[in-house]
Amino acid sequence: MDLAQLQTIERAGVSFSIQVAVPGGGNTLILSPIEVLSFLDDKDQLTAKHFGVPVEDYLEWVKTDGTPRCGAKTTKGKVCRNFVSGGIQMPLHKWRKLDGGLCAVHGGENSVEANM
Ligand SMILES: [Zn+2]
Repeated sequence: MDLAQLQTIERAGVSFSIQVAVPGGGNTLILSPIEVLSFLDDKDQLTAKHFGVPVEDYLEWVKTDGTPRCGAKTTKGKVCRNFVSGGIQMPLHKWRKLDGGLCAVHGGENSVEANM
């Protein structure tokens, strides 16, 4: 199937939709003929591009169910990865803003220091 064939199909009134994973379930995306070709090549890349983020971010967002993780280093030098307070199943762009922030232990908004 090439682009011209897909465009012919689209002009005839057919739309291309796919189901993609998002925290809490699935999302329907409508694809252009060019996106259909990208989709056949790499579904995750296409989905990430559709959302406007790097593919690693999209996959991590789904894997963590939209829950941002702490980016502070523990005393052992490892990345903490505790949940950052504020909820689960966050929209992608909000999740990206908060991921790598601080959990309560490391000075996040519900920590003792933040409430003094
Ligand atoms: Zn932490």
